[in-house]
Amino acid sequence: MMVSVDASRCIGCGMCAAAVPAVFQIEGRVSVVQAQPRTAAEETGAFNAANGCPVNAIRVRKN
Ligand code: SF4
Repeated sequence: MMVSVDASRCIGCGMCAAAVPAVFQIEGRVSVVQAQPRTAAEETGAFNAANGCPVNAIRVRKN
């Protein structure tokens, strides 16, 4: 799984970083991917964060 955040869309709400801090981190006013998901729990969390992002800024690509 490859996760990315479109910084031009992100509004910095912090939801993804709160849900999966191992993957997402707020830097400045936007979320950045600090590490790709490594565990099943992180993958599920990243997938759910992508679905829950209010501005659809998170992209998840299956390898
Ligand atoms: S949930 Fe979406 S809008 Fe909110 S911080 Fe994460 S990427 Fe940005």
